[in-house]
Amino acid sequence: MFISFEGIDGCGKSVQSRRLAQILGNEGRQVIHTREPGGSTGAEEIRRLLVEGDGERWSPETECLLFTAARRDHLERTIRPALAQGKTVITDRFADSTRIYQGAARADLRMIVDQLHDLMIGTDPDRTFILDIDPEIALARGNARGGTEDRFESLGLGFQQCLADGFRHLATEFPDRVRLIDASGTVDQVAARVRAAL
Ligand code: C5P
Repeated sequence: MFISFEGIDGCGKSVQSRRLAQILGNEGRQVIHTREPGGSTGAEEIRRLLVEGDGERWSPETECLLFTAARRDHLERTIRPALAQGKTVITDRFADSTRIYQGAARADLRMIVDQLHDLMIGTDPDRTFILDIDPEIALARGNARGGTEDRFESLGLGFQQCLADGFRHLATEFPDRVRLIDASGTVDQVAARVRAAL
């Protein structure tokens, strides 16, 4: 089974995706936890190119190509081999992030994003959990963690609001695959919501 976690910066994806991996592991499944951008040696190198520098380093179009290149490597080297061995793969972000960040929020490139996805990726997770949270709370969580880590996270509240709207819309666009999870409350409360939804 292939599971992704999605949402705005500071929504708790990293913590919750790891927590689900731990829960399913304790239930006796073989699970790998991975992340995007990254998740394979080559994709982690591309991640560095993406997150370092200032906001204008890449045009939105080039950004799309870099995220897609990283995803292709992640899929070939990490995700497909693990699925072929019968493992459950849990990833912190996958193609929905590109649909929303590059396809809607950074620029209006959804058609290009979809074409690149069909051409180079061609698959989506079996289940996607979108951690739905008020951007102001997410921003406060990020600041509590020690502020902005990279060039994207400095884009501010309006940008995060736009992302949050985009992610919510995905639940309507892909109702069979995508579940919206209320990400307010404690780590344990959110983890229980995710497990119940799965
Ligand atoms: O989720 P994570 O914090 O590891 O992502 C790294 C950065 O890349 C984040 O700031 C996120 O907003 C950004 N990102 C992006 N487009 C994507 C995926 C992530 O701009 N498709």
